[in-house]
Amino acid sequence: MKDYKYYCNNCNTNIDGHPVRCGKCNQILAVTGRISYQTTNVEILNEKNNIWRYWDLLPLDKETNIISKNEGFSSLNKSEYYSNLCKCNVYLKDETKNPTNSFKDRGMSVAVSKARELGLIDLATVSTGNSGLSFSMYTNSIGLKSRVYIPKSTDKEKTLLLRLYGAEITFFTENLSDTRTKEIELSRTENQTFIKAHLHSYYFEGQKTIGFEIIEQLNFDVPDIIIVPTGGGTLFTSLWKGFEELHRLNIISKIPKPVCVQASGCSPIVNAFKSKDKIKEIKNPNTSVSSIRIANPSLGNEVLNIIEKYNGTALSFCDEELIENVIEIARKDGIFVEPACSTTIAGLKELSRTEFIKESDTVVCILTGHGYKSMNLLFDKVN
Ligand SMILES: [Zn+2]
Repeated sequence: MKDYKYYCNNCNTNIDGHPVRCGKCNQILAVTGRISYQTTNVEILNEKNNIWRYWDLLPLDKETNIISKNEGFSSLNKSEYYSNLCKCNVYLKDETKNPTNSFKDRGMSVAVSKARELGLIDLATVSTGNSGLSFSMYTNSIGLKSRVYIPKSTDKEKTLLLRLYGAEITFFTENLSDTRTKEIELSRTENQTFIKAHLHSYYFEGQKTIGFEIIEQLNFDVPDIIIVPTGGGTLFTSLWKGFEELHRLNIISKIPKPVCVQASGCSPIVNAFKSKDKIKEIKNPNTSVSSIRIANPSLGNEVLNIIEKYNGTALSFCDEELIENVIEIARKDGIFVEPACSTTIAGLKELSRTEFIKESDTVVCILTGHGYKSMNLLFDKVN
């Protein structure tokens, strides 16, 4: 049996079982709970071409409970174009190649596998995009119900894609500021198990495997800088949790510098970083880049702590610049990404004109998802 524990970061207590709230401080564990491992030796399972090759650092007890569609193990492409342009070594981590074409498959594979291990059968999530598609695909593939709550205003293409993967859709009328906040709210009245409320700590663990792969693909050299598109902060915080685990296990000797990138029409983390203040909710988000349009990121202050601890930075870019970069990445590196991803290239370009990036640096841009879900933003832009 693997040795890992559910742990409340708010009151530094180990927790037995899988409750919604911490028995000591009563905080909702979706926000404060983390999995911690006592493991001292990690073996990479080379026969698995998916996230489960890092079995020793994933929170599942029995291999027979794994639900996998070969998520992860995505390519890390050296970009000659951006390396020359930005005078450093640039790599693109291509998450569009995942089963439902975004990095969310990693977390969802872990969360739904854990749900199976815990015997949970009535699962639900709140999503308007990538995570809902991924959730529906995994739950349907093993015959579980997959209830997805979405705002009534969700466009018909996204609703169609959800139905394609088998989601049973429930509409709600109000505007959405953060999917996790809405899940926590629904978990008070509905009987289902919510992925981002009840099972978030497991979902979180899947995302860190992007970092493990980057290290493995660079032959255990640690990149100097990693640039991450950031909405709610789950990907960002999970990546650096993963790097800290590898560091503790002496697998890596240093930890990369973090760069958080957002769309300027909704950049609560960048605003807080620049004003050296806590996160303040954005009242009227004004960006069409929906996958990172999170007005009140639940992990925003954690992102700020990581940036400070590892000498990182945070920047934001306007929609127009992001769309231009989507087109450029497709033409120069052959990857069609959603506009959220092109924040990384915009960030790379800006930082390469400063002291932050040196000529010897290796910089990894994480391209989180495919562009086909946001085609509507491109119709007037591509000539
Ligand atoms: Zn607690």
